[in-house]
Formats: sequence, structure tokens, C-alpha cells
Amino acid sequence: MSRTAFNRRFADDAACAAHLFEKRWPNGFVCPTCRSQKAWALETKPFTYECTACHRQTSVTAGTIFHRSKVALTTWFQAIYAIASHSNGISALQLQAQLGLGSYKTAWLMLQKLRRAMVDPDRSLLEDLVEVDASDIPFRTKSDPIAGGQGRSPVGKLHIIGAIELSPDGLPRRIRLAPLADFTAASIGGFVTSAVTPGATLLSDGFSSYRGLAGFFHRRKIVGSMAAHVLLPWIHRVFANFKRWALGTYHGVRKPHLRRYLDEFVFR
Ligand SMILES: [Zn+2]
Repeated sequence: MSRTAFNRRFADDAACAAHLFEKRWPNGFVCPTCRSQKAWALETKPFTYECTACHRQTSVTAGTIFHRSKVALTTWFQAIYAIASHSNGISALQLQAQLGLGSYKTAWLMLQKLRRAMVDPDRSLLEDLVEVDASDIPFRTKSDPIAGGQGRSPVGKLHIIGAIELSPDGLPRRIRLAPLADFTAASIGGFVTSAVTPGATLLSDGFSSYRGLAGFFHRRKIVGSMAAHVLLPWIHRVFANFKRWALGTYHGVRKPHLRRYLDEFVFR
């Protein structure tokens, strides 16, 4: 949809609310408490319906990131359009300019909320054959452009871990990425069990933290001095692309927001 068509379709808050109503109740209103299908639209509260049976009041925005926001629905919708149409992502500064927002902080908070909403927390676990590996990325502090420690030093580096599901012919299907606190078996195991179905086959570098994970089959791919990027090609390509994308779009990664950047990258 072109920007003009989008702005015409969602010209005011009522049009945005009607869209949310349609998504939420495609077959008409249903009370979340008593399942009654009859309700009055309240005149005193915008886009809120009161069930005629149990009198519960339900807003079309309940349970969404728009709920109780001071930002108008039209502005939220335009932000979503802006994010979706910038293939490499959009910065808070760009969003502020494009939407004509008075405050940088508002633009920044909207972006954070939208990034979170992009990832469905109920998505299913990876199956079959799964490449898994960890990596370090340099992070940005307030003052320096890029802080990067040398060698194994943890200073200025963030750990990330990723898993990628492969089809039977070895092509990538789905990705999961997350921040990693450290390289202990507990941290690595926590990620693997939250991302991968028990019984799947893990392709790893054979690091003991992976081998110790019960409930998975293990296929160790790294032998001797062969480089990880040769034997686990897909997950290493993902790490490289993430670093390049974060540098290009956000001019580096800031530590507190790592998870959201990872979520947005996986979404894209
Ligand atoms: Zn009811």
C-alpha cells in the first residue's frame, strides 16, 4: 500500500480503531468475561464497549501496545508503516522527523514497544536439525562510537547466542537469537531449552556446554583447528549480518537494548 493510500485508509483514530475491532472480533464483539455478543459502545470512553450481560467494559486497544497510550492511534499506525517501509530499520530520530513528533523520547519509546511487539512470544520451538553457536559483538557506550575489547577480554563486548533450524537438505528455515550472560552450561542450556524442541539434533562446535545438554542429540561439527564459520556456516552468516545491520542502522549496539535489536533483526 502506498503512503498516500495508507494515510487515506487510516485518516483518523476512528478508522484505526475500526481496523483493530475487525482484527480482534472478526465475527462481531465477544465479551472476554462471559462470551456474550451484545455490547454498547460507550460515549464517554473512546473505542470501549460495555457488555450488556455482565457490564464488563472492553477497549479495542486492551492487550495491545496502543492501550492507554498518550500517542494517537493514527500516529502509531504511521509509525508501523514507517518501520515496515524502511527495509533496514529506522532510528528514533528518523521516526521523530517523519511523524513530526515533538519529543525524541516519545519516538524512542514507540520504537521500543513496536520492536517487542514484532516478536510473537508463543512462536513454536525449532525442530529437526539445529545449528547452535555463540559469538561476541562489540557494543557502544554513551561516549565512544564503538568500544571493542581485544581478544578474550569481556570489556566492550556482548555475548550473543543463536540457533538456526535447517531443512533436511541443509537450508536455513527459522532463526532464534538472544543475549547470553556467559558461556556456562547453565546459560547456554537455558537458551537451547527455550528455543529448541527436545529430541532435536544440535550441530555445535562440540564445546562441553552443548554436549552436557540432556534430551538432545548432538553432532559435533568442529574438529581440531577447522574454523567455526566453515562448519557452522548458517549461524555464522547470521551473526555477521546482524553485526553489519546493527552497525549500519543503529551505528552500533547499546547494551540495554540488545534483546530488542536481536528481536527486530530476527523479524526482518
Ligand atoms: Zn460480559
